[in-house]
Amino acid sequence: MEVAVHGLDEPWKGFVCPDHQWYGQQFTPEKFSCGLCKFGPDRQFMGMAPVAFRETAEDDISNATASVQELVLAAREIFVDSEQFAEQFRQYLDVLAARENPGPTDPLAPVDDDSTRLKVPNRFLNPPG
Ligand SMILES: [Zn+2]
Repeated sequence: MEVAVHGLDEPWKGFVCPDHQWYGQQFTPEKFSCGLCKFGPDRQFMGMAPVAFRETAEDDISNATASVQELVLAAREIFVDSEQFAEQFRQYLDVLAARENPGPTDPLAPVDDDSTRLKVPNRFLNPPG
């Protein structure tokens, strides 16, 4: 089935970015090009990482840690089973896992003394106030 999404004055043709095939069709005006190339896929990965973590951690979220490998496997099962996706998601998680301290918006935090594992950031466990 063909789906056409129309803007005000031009038809928006769906396109698939060759570098982000896993993201599927994007329905934005062609002149804006691929949103993931432009802004990076971090925004998408930020939402996926906690979901994948929850999948690996089962009950005890607060004490659980997960390896980058486990998170990538979980994400492939939940979201999209693609080598390209796995590779890019792994790179994103590797950066988080290698940090000294979690960034203020990071969805997962590094584990002390293990740069291949991630855990839930403290700010989610002990909200200030
Ligand atoms: Zn792209």
